[in-house]
Amino acid sequence: MRSSRIWQPPDVSAQLIGIAALATSFTAVCERCAAIDARDGWSGSTFAGRLDLDLAGGVFLCRRGHQVRVERAEPPGQTELAAAS
Ligand SMILES: [Zn+2]
Repeated sequence: MRSSRIWQPPDVSAQLIGIAALATSFTAVCERCAAIDARDGWSGSTFAGRLDLDLAGGVFLCRRGHQVRVERAEPPGQTELAAAS
């Protein structure tokens, strides 16, 4: 758990979405858009993004330009390669 969010803009607080360890593309729901779309009677507040495997995370913009932080889950079982023979 990281709790060192010192700088937090009042209006553009980034959302955090987790994706699978081996996912290179994702579809996410922007909660800010979901609130707007629900009010206006729409239900399609998802957006698609792409995160290459060498990146652990990134910040994306939804179709309305809201910031969404995407973080990759820890890959399972990476310690076997480091085992001494
Ligand atoms: Zn949005």
